[in-house]
Amino acid sequence: MKPKLSLLIYRICFAAGIVILLGSIVLFNTMSARRIGVFAGLGVELAGAIQANIFYKCPHCGKPINPRGKQPAKCLNCEKEIKW
Ligand SMILES: [Zn+2]
Repeated sequence: MKPKLSLLIYRICFAAGIVILLGSIVLFNTMSARRIGVFAGLGVELAGAIQANIFYKCPHCGKPINPRGKQPAKCLNCEKEIKW
């Protein structure tokens, strides 16, 4: 997978996870339904973070890039240019 795609998935999962988590607290009126929604939201967050850990890295040396930071123009480890 390309790192750019991985970053996109990370961001979508991050946003979707929060929407699912908060949405289920607001919209569901039973505790068990809310609990399921909260776990579903957290699951989406986690899935996004895990795939970013696996795929969001330097294409040259494989060093992981922080998905919460800016997209670096070049790798901090091998200093080769990263094409986005
Ligand atoms: Zn590198």
